Amino acid sequence: MNPAATSWLIATGQGWKLYVALAGFGGSLVLFSLALFSLASGGNRFVAFVACGGFLSVATFGWFTTVVRCPHCASRLVWRMVTTRPHSSWVIELAALDCCPLCGKALVTGRRPQ
Ligand SMILES: [Zn+2]
Repeated sequence: MNPAATSWLIATGQGWKLYVALAGFGGSLVLFSLALFSLASGGNRFVAFVACGGFLSVATFGWFTTVVRCPHCASRLVWRMVTTRPHSSWVIELAALDCCPLCGKALVTGRRPQ
């Protein structure tokens, strides 16, 4: 595989953070689905499931925005993309970054952020 085609998240050893975030969002989706099923069967656990799903998704998002960093300047790149790009495309633009939008250094050649 061409190294240039590898996402910088993988190249800088931060790919696992993406999978943890996906697992967290998947878990919140399951909780929201359970809330709907609970509503259909009486609804006595609806609020608990929605509260847990909401907490899990907010916690996952908050964690993900702070842990993915530029290997050079340690800026919070997910947060940067969320706040500066359209909400429909920030994930794609984040994955496709070549250079850090703040310090301008190439991300793929970077090392793990400290
Ligand atoms: Zn940077």
